[in-house]
Amino acid sequence: MGILIYWDYRSPDGIQTPVHRIISGLIGCPVDLIPGDLFPLDGYHRIRRQYDAGRVLNRIGLFKRMHTIDNPFLLVIPDDLYSESSDFVFGLARASIGAAVVSTARLENEYYGLDDNTGLTIDRIAKEGSHEIGHLLGLGHCTIPECIMFQPGTRDELDRKQKWFCPTCRSQLPGI
Ligand SMILES: [Zn+2]
Ligand SMILES: [Zn+2]
Repeated sequence: MGILIYWDYRSPDGIQTPVHRIISGLIGCPVDLIPGDLFPLDGYHRIRRQYDAGRVLNRIGLFKRMHTIDNPFLLVIPDDLYSESSDFVFGLARASIGAAVVSTARLENEYYGLDDNTGLTIDRIAKEGSHEIGHLLGLGHCTIPECIMFQPGTRDELDRKQKWFCPTCRSQLPGI
């Protein structure tokens, strides 16, 4: 059962292919890229100017039911996300409905007032995307800071991660 990546058209353009290639290589199962339209989102908080990641996941669940999609589904959006327990999240996943979301808002240097770096943006989206897909495939968090399944709290922690599943996490991936 292939994994689907839905790339909202407002997300950074022109880097879908390298991100898709890296994620496919890391996960080791079929991954399909859907050049998406505007994904209908729920959960906007006007004061925070962020979306509630949990409600975005609910919306993905609804979208999957409407379109009879059973595959694990990763949505990539440019909108900043928060969750009940965090002021912001890079992404969130809910394995029970096979739904995950990654926000590119804080994955681009522009957010931090730094010079554009397309290579870094690609790496960060690929790492976060693989992390959330890892959850959809049943993996939990890992304590090894370099492992994809480590939960980064900051951009530095995200950048310290490698495009790598540690042997323990890798052994839990299906089909490997
Ligand atoms: Zn996680
Ligand atoms: Zn690990």
